[in-house]
Amino acid sequence: MVEHLLDVEVVGGSIPLAPTISATTISPGNAGLVPATFFPDYDSTFPNYNLNTKYIATMKITLPDASVREYSAPATVAQIAADIGPGLAKAALGGEVDGQLVDSSFEIDQDSIVRIITGKDIEGLEIIRHSCAHLLAQAVKELFPDAQVTIGPVIEDGFYYDFAYAPGFSQSDLESIEQRMVELAKKGTIIERKTMERDDAISFFRNLGEEYKAKIIEEIPAQEELSLYQQADFVDLCRGPHVADTSHLKAFKLTKLAGAYWRGDSSNVMLQRIYGTAWADKKSLQDYLHRIEEAEKRDHRRIGKELDLFHFQEEAPGMVFWHRDGWTLYTVVERYVRELLGEYGYQEVHTPQMLDRSLWERSGHWDKFRDNMFTTQVDDRDYAIKPMNCPGHVQLFNQGLRSYRDLPIRIAEFGIVHRKEPSGTLHGLLRARRFTQDDAHVFCTEDQLQEEVSTLIELTYRMYRDFGFKEIEVALSTRPEQRVGEDVLWDRAEKALALALEEKGIAYTVQPGEGAFYGPKHEFVLRDSIGRRWQCGTIQVDFSMPGRLDAEYVTADGAKKTPVMIHRAILGSLERFIGILIEDTEGRLPFWLAPVQAVILNITDRQRDYALETEKSLKKQAIRVESDLRNEKIGYKIRQSTLRRIPYLLIVGDREMAQGQIAVRTREGEDLGAIPVDELSERLLHLEADARR
Ligand SMILES: [Zn+2]
Ligand SMILES: [Zn+2]
Repeated sequence: MVEHLLDVEVVGGSIPLAPTISATTISPGNAGLVPATFFPDYDSTFPNYNLNTKYIATMKITLPDASVREYSAPATVAQIAADIGPGLAKAALGGEVDGQLVDSSFEIDQDSIVRIITGKDIEGLEIIRHSCAHLLAQAVKELFPDAQVTIGPVIEDGFYYDFAYAPGFSQSDLESIEQRMVELAKKGTIIERKTMERDDAISFFRNLGEEYKAKIIEEIPAQEELSLYQQADFVDLCRGPHVADTSHLKAFKLTKLAGAYWRGDSSNVMLQRIYGTAWADKKSLQDYLHRIEEAEKRDHRRIGKELDLFHFQEEAPGMVFWHRDGWTLYTVVERYVRELLGEYGYQEVHTPQMLDRSLWERSGHWDKFRDNMFTTQVDDRDYAIKPMNCPGHVQLFNQGLRSYRDLPIRIAEFGIVHRKEPSGTLHGLLRARRFTQDDAHVFCTEDQLQEEVSTLIELTYRMYRDFGFKEIEVALSTRPEQRVGEDVLWDRAEKALALALEEKGIAYTVQPGEGAFYGPKHEFVLRDSIGRRWQCGTIQVDFSMPGRLDAEYVTADGAKKTPVMIHRAILGSLERFIGILIEDTEGRLPFWLAPVQAVILNITDRQRDYALETEKSLKKQAIRVESDLRNEKIGYKIRQSTLRRIPYLLIVGDREMAQGQIAVRTREGEDLGAIPVDELSERLLHLEADARR
């Protein structure tokens, strides 16, 4: 997921700096206009004092429910929260004032729209997580004074902090750091915001021996005023906002320790990264830890081993060795996709695994993507193993003269690609170096774009639903600053992508400026059974590549024109999608996907031939069935097959044999009773059809 490096990115910040004078002498009780003489020495005492903005007859604070509160003196976010109610006063973590996030100590001195932020808001959670990152750094500095702080951003569900600490932390250090954090939180230390000129901040941190922090600040433009946050002796550079005091931090846990290079560059020094999670209350923390535990139980690498589906080994990093059952699953998924390709008017093709360098130069990959490509030399020629299938598909389009009457042309390939992913990022099937895309490219006219995209959306939703995913999120990414193609083309393509969703009543989010330089795109995210989000499919319009690789067609009036190209992958990578399926189902694949759909178990050797006969008849019906005829107790055999997550256990004893039946049990332990063998295949096939509907 996206990690926002808050400390680095936004330190220059758009948040207005807090007033540098405090209004503590003015309480809401001092109603009415305060005469200037109230502070006779204001010029020398409060150099920033400004009569016009600080003391006002009435200040109107508009709240989210559109109600308005009037104040005759400046008020902090915390004061406004307290005026609304004591519950809110306790829950307030910060505020949003005219669209900008601020600390609860932020003083408002003009008419404003104000929202109080609590732990129920996502912004509130971010405030908690950010404050926890500081708490972590404070604890580390107390326990390990030699450690230097670097950055500590908020990430999904938590935070991390990178420390420069040569000896490295141990697991037991992590425990003592967390323990210290708990103690520090309990103290309820006030977290105070201060501002400093950039150059002063550099020397301030350098004097503390915080070289990394000083380096970070050196990259901020000079003259910029920075905000710092102090809690006890610990001071950190930060945009904020933060909780008012550490007692708001009640539900956190340090989760893991990892190495991370300074600035993500492997030629730099290795830092110690400590990850943590933080929530508004203990219950949310417990729920989260439970979800993590669930995720570990579902780890596809573990289930892949238990079910004997695949393995990886050092000689082929990031490349799967599929075992029999895993490959069966793979081919079932592939066959399913292939059936739909026919139905939706695609031609399936297959293109070379490596192509001459010159082609990659023309496509732009050699320049932009080279570090991620595997290359090789044969007879003094440079080749690249394909990281994408697109240039190959344009070669197919370019065979022969294309007319507008031929369009759209839809070219699909189970395209095996190789990408040099950094070894540290490899993660089983989910992030591999060799994988197969359910890739396709549609070449069409500008007029056909709308309909093609619309059909693609239909196909995408159909496929996800068939695999059991019901919650699908879509984002539309629009034109970035740097782009190719005329604006009229972009207008048209963005409209086509938006309209295709709207016509189907699909809600979507817009990501302005997030499109590729060559065109706008859709991205599809699936939610799995424990609420995790997985980005899978994408539909991308491309105004660049067809022209670069000389694709053209002849228009109705005989002119030559470049077609629009749509790249689309729905499952994305078959390997990764299978990893997601395994985690989503915890290995309990639905009947139609299960590598072994049913297993026949005999109670004694007397039913051996009957079992084998039954197996034969089911295989004829294209059911993936096995027999377990070992001379073991039936209870043991049932347990073993259940552990293998085989959907149906077909049990034969003397009675079943005498009546030409078979006793059917599900892997969940449900007893479906005895079913005549000749009806069984039909019953199971019906179940399969139901599951696909
Ligand atoms: Zn911070
Ligand atoms: Zn492509």
